[in-house]
Amino acid sequence: MKRAIVIGGASGIGLATVDALSAEGVEVVVADVDADRAEKVAAERGDTVRALRVDVTDEESVTAAFDAVGEFDTVVNCAGLSDPGALTELELSAWRHTVDVCLTGTFLVIKHAGRRVADGGSITCIASLNGRQPGAGMGSYCASKAGVLMLVEVAAMELAERRIRVNAVSPGLVETPLTEGIGFVPGLTDEYIENTPLGRSGEPAEIADTIVFLASDKARWITGAAFDVNGGAHLKRYPDV
Ligand code: NAD
Repeated sequence: MKRAIVIGGASGIGLATVDALSAEGVEVVVADVDADRAEKVAAERGDTVRALRVDVTDEESVTAAFDAVGEFDTVVNCAGLSDPGALTELELSAWRHTVDVCLTGTFLVIKHAGRRVADGGSITCIASLNGRQPGAGMGSYCASKAGVLMLVEVAAMELAERRIRVNAVSPGLVETPLTEGIGFVPGLTDEYIENTPLGRSGEPAEIADTIVFLASDKARWITGAAFDVNGGAHLKRYPDV
């Protein structure tokens, strides 16, 4: 792995991924809709990291960003957000906002990265525990992330001919600006921890480590997989007896 693009790399899990890839000696392009923050990240890290603006909901922006990067062998898509609300109350615009970024954005990244990534390269998409576990008030997000898991499987089949591996990482609750935005509140955190065998929420670097593994040659026989990185929260248990 020589050159990686981390989309949504200016914050949270994406930012931790930029640092984890850089630590492996990979040249990294930080691509984010927040161009100022991406520039700041790149400036703070020196020559091996550069910044680009990309909006994953806009096909022209996605193609322009990939064209500007040139050759690359790894793409990680961390762009995401959640515009929460109960389904009976949710405005169509709020639904579309989340689905556009999380699901349509993933499609556009796979479409254009799939055409350009080097043979033998990899695409890693960030799904969520919510792609397989429902959360009341998070219908647009849960549906989008379930869609991401399926898109990854389809892409893995379609791109295997060129030995491009496509995988998903599904984090549980991780403290980042995104979870602050939707209320990384004590109640939510406590309930999550209660239902999590390893008994805590996660850190961005713990997700980044899995992303780096999946992008590396150590994962050369892994494609179409979804890795749950959540302290075991997907095991949601019946009460102990
Ligand atoms: P974050 O808000 O810290 O980072 C998300 C980044 O995506 C930001 O830099 C933002 O500017 C960028 N972004 C948003 N819209 C974009 C667009 N249209 N085009 C390009 N970039 C865009 O959030 P995070 O917690 O680091 O989330 C990263 C990914 O992990 C998301 O896909 C999120 O759904 C997923 N996830 C997070 C958690 C968690 O608990 N934090 C849990 C499960 C899944």
